[in-house]
This record gives sequence, C-alpha cells and structure tokens, in this order.
Amino acid sequence: MIEEVKPVPDGTYPPVIEGAEDDIRNMCEKRAHEIYGEDLPDIVAERMNKELDSIISNGYAVLYLIAQKLVENSENAGYLVGSRGSVGSSFAAMLSGITEVNSLPPHYVCPKCKHSEFFEGLSIVGPDLEDKDCPVCGAHMNKDGYDIPFETFLGFNGDKEPDIDLNFSGDNQADAHAYTEVLFGKGKTFRAGTISTLAEKTAYGYVKNYFQEKGEVATNAEVERLKNGCSGVKKTTGQHPGGIMVVPKDQDIYNFTPVQRPADDPDSDTITTHFDYHSISGRLLKLDILGHDDPTMLRILYENTGVNPRDIPLDDREVLSLFAGTEALNFKEEVDLDLGTAGVPEFGTPFTKQMVRDAKPKTLADLIRISGLSHGTDVWTNNAQVLVNSGQVGIGDVISTRDDIMLGLINFGLPPINAFSTMEHVRKGKGLTEEEEALMREKNVPEWYIDSCKKIKYMFPKAHAVAYVVMAYRIAWYKIHYPEQYYAAYFGIRAKEFDLKVIQGGLESVKAEMERLNKKSRVEKLSNKEQNSQVSLELALEMYARGISCRSIDLNRSHYRFFIPEKGYIIPPFTAVAGLGSAVAEKIVSEREKRPFISQDDLQERSKINNSCLEALNDLGCLRDLPKSDQISFFNFGA
Ligand SMILES: [Zn+2]
Repeated sequence: MIEEVKPVPDGTYPPVIEGAEDDIRNMCEKRAHEIYGEDLPDIVAERMNKELDSIISNGYAVLYLIAQKLVENSENAGYLVGSRGSVGSSFAAMLSGITEVNSLPPHYVCPKCKHSEFFEGLSIVGPDLEDKDCPVCGAHMNKDGYDIPFETFLGFNGDKEPDIDLNFSGDNQADAHAYTEVLFGKGKTFRAGTISTLAEKTAYGYVKNYFQEKGEVATNAEVERLKNGCSGVKKTTGQHPGGIMVVPKDQDIYNFTPVQRPADDPDSDTITTHFDYHSISGRLLKLDILGHDDPTMLRILYENTGVNPRDIPLDDREVLSLFAGTEALNFKEEVDLDLGTAGVPEFGTPFTKQMVRDAKPKTLADLIRISGLSHGTDVWTNNAQVLVNSGQVGIGDVISTRDDIMLGLINFGLPPINAFSTMEHVRKGKGLTEEEEALMREKNVPEWYIDSCKKIKYMFPKAHAVAYVVMAYRIAWYKIHYPEQYYAAYFGIRAKEFDLKVIQGGLESVKAEMERLNKKSRVEKLSNKEQNSQVSLELALEMYARGISCRSIDLNRSHYRFFIPEKGYIIPPFTAVAGLGSAVAEKIVSEREKRPFISQDDLQERSKINNSCLEALNDLGCLRDLPKSDQISFFNFGA
C-alpha cells in the first residue's frame, strides 16, 4: 500500500550560487591581465579560455567559487592554504587564487611592462630558469610555470569529476569549517560521517572470548559461522577528517540522510551525516577541508621573521645545496650528518633521504620529481631507482608523476588523446594495452620507458608534488636563513616527540641518547615514541652543531605551546613537559600575567598543575628560584 520510496535520491544536487560562472570568468580574466598585460600572450589566453569553457559548461564554476572563497577567508586570517591533489593542474585555479601552482610552461614575465617569454618541452620548471632582465624595460623578470596539463584535473573532455582538496593550517581548520556555514547557511553543512565496522580478527576474538567465558567448547565451523555473522557489523561512527557535505538551499538534508552526533556522544558539537558519506557522495557536494602542519609552520615563521613566505625566492642555490650536503648550515661542531634536509617536509624520512642521495637533485624540477617518485607505488623502487643507479637514465628523464607520461608521450609524437588514455591506464596500475604498446614502439619510445610504464601501480599528480615541494622549499629557506626561528617552529609544531631533559642537556647529551637508541634499534624494533624521538634528536643535533642551544622552560617567559626563538637559543613552552596539557599550560600563562607566582604552592593552586608535572618542572630546574611554599616566601620577605 506504500508507494515506492527511495532512501537516497538519484542525481546530483550541487549548491547553487547565482552568477558563479560570470564571477569566475571575470576573476580569472582580471588576474590574467594583471600578470600578463593588456594583450594576453596566445598561450595564456588559449589555456585560460579552454579551461573556463570546460569548467563552466560542465557545471563546476560553483566549485571553483566556493574553493576561492574558502582560500580567501583563510588568507585574510593570515594563513596560506596549500593545494593537494590535482587542482594545481588548473591554470584557472591559479588565476582565481585557489592554488599558487602556475601550470603554464616555464616562462619569464616582467612585473613592470608585462613582457613574457615561454619555453615548451623543457625538463626544468620556471624558477629553474637563469635570471634575466626584461629586454624591453630592463626590470628583473619573474620566473614561473610548472608545465602541468589541465587534463590531469578535469579529464580529456572536461568530464572527470574534479576534486578540490585543500590543506588549511590545523590552527585554522575549525574556522574554515565554520565559514562553510556562512557561505551556505545554517543547517546546510554537515561533517561527512563514517561508519567503522568490526574487523574479522576482532570478531574472531569476540567469539573465542564468548565461548571461553561461558565455559563452552565450540566446533571450528561454529566459531567460523559466528565470526562471519559479526564481522562487518557497525562498531562505531565517526567523521572524515575534513569532509563537509553541502546541502543546496532548496533541499533538506533529510532527503539524503538522517543526521547525528558521532560516536553516541550527546555533547558533541559536531553533526555528521548518519549514512557513511560514501553512500551519498555524488549526490551532495563534499568539500575536503583538511588540516596540515605546513601552513601553520609558515605562519609562525612569518610572524617570527617578518619574511612573507610568498616573497621567498624559489631559485636560492643555498636551499638546493641542502639536498647535497650540509655546508649551507655552517656547522660549528663536527657531527655525523651528510644531508641538510632534516625536518624539511617531504625530504626528511630515511626513504626520501636515500632517494635524494641516489638521485642527486640539482634543480627545483628534480625535487618535484623526487616528491612524485616517493609518493608513487613501484615508481621508484624496482623501477626508476634501478635506471638511475645504473646510470642508464638521468633523474630528469625518468617517469615520476602522471603528467610526465602525458607530456612525455606527446613529445614522442603520440596524439594527445592516446597520451592521455595511456597516462590514465598507467597511473591506475593497469599497465599498457597491446595497442598502446604498439603505438609507443611505432613512435620510437625507448624500451626502458615502456617497461617502466608497465611496472607502475600508483602515481602522484604533478600538481600535488609541486604544491608540496614549494611549501617544503620555503621551509628549507627559513632553515638556512633563520635557524633559531626554524628549530623553534619545528619543535613547536611538527615534532611528535620532544625529550626536553635530553635536548636541554646539550650536544653531548643529545649524541648519547641518539647512540643509545641506535644501539637499541640494532637488537629490537623501536617503539613509535622512540622513532619519533630519533627524528627530533637529529634536528636537535643539527641545531647544537649550528651553535644554537635549547634553554630550560622559563616560568616568566615561556609560551604555553610554541618555542620562543632568541639569538643563539630557543626557549621551550610549558607543553614540552610530558603530560602537561595545553589547558594547564594556558592557565599558567594567564595566571602569570595577573601577578607573578610567589611559590610552588601558589603556582599549583592557581594553575591546577598536577604533582607529577610540577615535579617534572622541578626536575628540569625550572622552579629553582621559586620557594616551595608561601610560608617561606612570606617569612623571607618579612626578614
Ligand atoms: Zn619589462
């Protein structure tokens, strides 16, 4: 007797913003003229118009406009936004301010008279070009362009569902989420809900325990039957780390899904979709607003140095030298380090460091290749690594990102549509079809190249590698030129483990602890905590070798959560004490501002710091000048 009901409707329900098409087009055109002048060079105009036509006709203008507004909002609050994924492949995304990655071929452009010169088919990127003065007006020319095809983003016919993933500062992520409510209205945005289910192993454990507790014996078949019945059942609900589902103004969320607070927590401020977001994605727009450390690092470095990360030159030879040795760090003490990349995002892990040693990068383009190689599956290992180490092919020629294949095959003379579809097959780990292979042979593509394509399982888009490398490069620049600020920012934001007692103990103390952990690692696997500690110790070693020390926590000066950089030393925050949470740390700082602490009792009374943390502070020598109790203080004062 009930009509047919569909729990989740078919079709897509994107949010509507009046005039989005015109807004995006005008925004892009305005910016293009600002950079490239009144008369746009053909290459600029063609790329921009091709993209805009494709974006608008496929209905993605709203998506661009939303991303643009989110980025603008975060930048107004003082935080850069990093782009992930392939959005940097879009020149229109750069023109509208969504990404900093300029996907045009390498080029010079004069900031004064707008004269420009483009180069196609180079194996370097724009910032790698030699410095040059404008032949028309003599001004120093800007260098840009990372040569990324638009097709990796929107497909060959603009028909691929685009994904705009953005990395916001972890400190600004909540604001960005709240801003979506401003954009779309209250009750129109919800966190993307997830459902975690019981894994087979856990289910097996439940069944085993059940019989054990009941003192019963069951056959293997019965255990198996019950296990199969339990596994896959909902365990708890949660949320995607940054996913926001957007309901258009004329729709109601209940047409798509019930909503709930996650994990049965009635006090949570978060409202998520009740259905797992995968089951309604494609119907509603999902924005990925993720939190990341790099934008936070750059914000702090900007604050502490006065140098805007955007103004950092991307052709500083000294920064590149960190990938070959440590000279640029000016060590004053001898330490056993062969590269200067410790703590530089993307290039600090043992795996990428070895890659750097093998590949010997000389240009920014090489660093982008290494980032691509390190994120792929079977792109470096058993593949490019062998080619590079045997000297058969240079790092500049191996396949490192998706886009390399498309551009590479076009350069070999393949028609763009074939180059595109081959790239799509290879990046998904599907190898090559017979026709593709035959066409490659016909165009004299070398055997090693064909072979390499067949081995690849997964590949990074070049735009993602560029965005990450540019962020990493800037951080490396601060590392060379503002060491105190760099180590302070690293330890305050990125370090997962910080052994204050060891590190404030000086160079020898750091060396001894490193040695202890190294020795231990030869006999047993180190815990995560110990491995994280190793990373921080290497940074501390480098810091001391550069003549910078770590002081003790200063009750009167320490920040609650960030390290304070000073000439020749850094001061740790209260949260550097293991177990001392940020709420208590903030309380210490706010109480200190009301009036100085007169005793340890006073400190504990007003900050609510627990005994073990107080003891730790004593142990670290931070409370040396603070008497134990008020009594003594009063007495001394009176005397
Ligand atoms: Zn000029």
